[in-house]
Amino acid sequence: MSLPDFAIEARGLVKTYPASRTGPAKTALKGVDIAIPRGSIFGLLGPNGAGKSTFINILAGLVNKTEGEVKIWGVDIDAQPRSARAAIGVVPQEIAADVFFTPRESMNTQAGLYGVPRAERRTDEILAALGLGDKADAYVRQLSGGMKRRLMVAKAMVHNPPVLILDEPTAGVDVELRRQLWTYVQALNDQGVTIVLTTHYLEEAQALCDTIAIINRGEVVACEPTGDLLRRFDSRAVIITPKVALDTAPDLGTFDARLRPDGRLVINFKADETGIEDVLEAVRAAGVGIKDLTTEEPDLEDVFLALTYNDPTAVSPTAF
Ligand code: ADP
Repeated sequence: MSLPDFAIEARGLVKTYPASRTGPAKTALKGVDIAIPRGSIFGLLGPNGAGKSTFINILAGLVNKTEGEVKIWGVDIDAQPRSARAAIGVVPQEIAADVFFTPRESMNTQAGLYGVPRAERRTDEILAALGLGDKADAYVRQLSGGMKRRLMVAKAMVHNPPVLILDEPTAGVDVELRRQLWTYVQALNDQGVTIVLTTHYLEEAQALCDTIAIINRGEVVACEPTGDLLRRFDSRAVIITPKVALDTAPDLGTFDARLRPDGRLVINFKADETGIEDVLEAVRAAGVGIKDLTTEEPDLEDVFLALTYNDPTAVSPTAF
C-alpha cells in the first residue's frame, strides 16, 4: 500500500455527549475537518473545554463519534477499527504507571496487549532512545516524574506506530523536562514518525510544531503552517475600563472591540500596523470615556475570539 498523504483525516466530525445527571447534552465537536500531513509535527491548540481531548479520544477509540468520518493512516476507523488503531500510539495526559513493574516488564505487557511477537519487540532500543536504558530493570516507583513520562512515550511506541499522539505532554512539568521531551519528539519525527500533540502552551507549539490547528468551542478556527499563524498572533490588545458601563461593544470602525463579561473592552490590533494612539482615538470618537487602560499580549482565547470575529465567511446578522 502506498503511504497516505495524511496521517489522520477527519471530515465533518461531530461529538455530542448525551445529557446526564451531571449536565445537559454537550456538543464537544461541531463538524470538525482536520487533515494532518504525514511526517508533520502537528499541534492541536485550544483553551480548556475546546474539544481537544474529545478528538484524541475518538482517534484512540475511547470515545465514539456521533457523526463524520475519520481515517488513520488511510484506514477508516469504522470499517477497520483494529488496523486503524494499530497505526497510532497514544500517550495519555495522566501518568498511569504500574509501580510494581520495571520499565522492561511494563513494555512487555504493553507489547503483549498489541500482539507484538517477542522476536519483534524493540524494548531495549526504545528505552534507550528515551534515555531509560539504564533504568530498564528498576522499579517504576523509583523513577522520577520525568522518567515516568518518558516511559509513557516508550509504551506508546511498542507496536512501532507511524503516528504518535501526545495529549498535553508537558502539562505541569518543569522547563528542563519540557525541553528534553521536545528533543525526543523531534528525534522521533526525524525518524519519520508523525507527531500530533495537544497543548495549551503557545510556546510549546511554536517551538515544535510545523502545522497548527486551533480549536475553540468544538470548531476549528484556524489550521495552517505555524509561521503563518504566528504572524496573526503578532497582535496586541488594549483593555479599557469604560467610565460608564456599556451594554454592547461600540463600533470602532476598522478595530474589533469586544466586551468582556467583567465590563472591560478588549481591542486587538496589529502592533506593526497601528499605534495605540489610533486605537484610543477610535475609542474617543465612539464616545467612550476611559477610566483605566492596560495593554497586554492577548492570550489564546483573545486571539481565538479575534480569529472567529474576523472570519470573512461569517455573515454579520446586521447584513440582513
Ligand atoms: P479539551 O480537551 O479541549 O479541554 P474536552 O474534549 O475535554 O476539551 O471537552 C470538550 C467539551 O465536552 C467540554 O465542554 C467538556 O465539558 C465536554 N465533555 C468532555 N467529556 C465529556 C463527557 N464524558 N461527558 C459530557 N461532557 C463532556
